[in-house]
Amino acid sequence: MSGPLTEVDPEVRAAVARERERQESTLGMIASENHVSPAVLEAQGTALTNKYAEGYPGERYYGGCEHVDEVERLAIDRAKELWGAEHVNVQPHSGTQANMAVYFAMLEPGDKILSLDLTHGGHLSHGHAVNFSGQLYEVEQYEVDPETGYLDYADLAATAREFDPDVIVSGSSAYPRAFEWETIQETAEGVGAYHLADMAHVTGLVAAGVHPSPVGIADFVTGSTHKTIRAGRGGIVLCDEEHADAIDSAVFPGGQGGPLMHNVAGKAVGFEEALEPEFADYARQVVDNAKTLAELFRERGLSLVSGGTDKHLLLVDLRESHPDTAGGDAESALEDVGIVLNKNTVPGETRSPFNPSGVRVGTPGVTTRGFGTDEMETVGGSIVDVLDAPDDDAVRERVGREVDRLCEAFPVYRN
Ligand SMILES: *Cc1c(COP(=O)(O)O)cnc(C)c1O
Repeated sequence: MSGPLTEVDPEVRAAVARERERQESTLGMIASENHVSPAVLEAQGTALTNKYAEGYPGERYYGGCEHVDEVERLAIDRAKELWGAEHVNVQPHSGTQANMAVYFAMLEPGDKILSLDLTHGGHLSHGHAVNFSGQLYEVEQYEVDPETGYLDYADLAATAREFDPDVIVSGSSAYPRAFEWETIQETAEGVGAYHLADMAHVTGLVAAGVHPSPVGIADFVTGSTHKTIRAGRGGIVLCDEEHADAIDSAVFPGGQGGPLMHNVAGKAVGFEEALEPEFADYARQVVDNAKTLAELFRERGLSLVSGGTDKHLLLVDLRESHPDTAGGDAESALEDVGIVLNKNTVPGETRSPFNPSGVRVGTPGVTTRGFGTDEMETVGGSIVDVLDAPDDDAVRERVGREVDRLCEAFPVYRN
């Protein structure tokens, strides 16, 4: 019970070391991923994992909670300051469980959810058939305009009037544009529905003020804490005081047992870091980098859903520029040279979801490493070079060397 990991479990230790090396030696461009600071890592790997703390600070079902109470209060206070919310619950184990809490608080089984279609950028937890949300509730979906790639708010409103939902979910995993939160809130109010704004991907951009905030507009806001905000894996719910008790009971005991207090500690530390002025610089750079990449891709003939981006991600539709390369093929060819991103469905998808027509490219991770627009141009050029000649060994070798050089110049963790 007392040896270090190297002695107790060399297999796990070695796999962890290899994963860390993989992160150092490749460019992580999966839009939902990021690299947390050493301080967040340290907070997560603590004795807080031993502690049961069912309940909330000051009202726990277990003794010995005074120190974890302090940690959770810090996380809550910092979140309130970051997003300007009246009430915050920092206990959801994930973004999906944050959404679950809102559904449990406001809906009965059989009630109706209106949300963005998965292939148009939505999320499993917005009512997909394989997720609890699609099994417990009746779901209708809205889509983006196939011509422009932008949301069609008039169509959304018409669907809402026809379907008469109990909740309208906004927010997405792959929609490269900002949501008009006010417009959707008005639509929801017009049909007597709640509006849940799932800001999962843009949580950090909203905190930094570089993306429009749904807080104070939507009835409920949920988020992930490990995407553009670098606070470790987990979720949060934000709402007005009026819904505070309903949300808290829906998180615990409604959908979860004891909170993961080591993760709550990670959230507290990541939120503190995000309150520093440097975080706003980071978030601005994330968006600048994505726009730079979009510009370069357009110049090199790639087609982007909606033509560009307002945030940290791009969705490339390969059908026109590379009709023989599906998203999965592009993902593998790029991973071979150390650029890690993911295949993605595109609006009007014509291929299988297992090998769809697009790839999603995100800038949060490489921006954390210190990439500016110069590095983005280099990486963007390399991505198109590989897409244009996936079987050309000379191109692959050259891009592989470029990736090595960038990884060495911009380490994730300085050891
Ligand atoms: C990532 C994401 C979530 C949360 O995902 P988890 O993996 O459960 O943390 C929720 N909604 C959207 C739109 C997302 O992109």
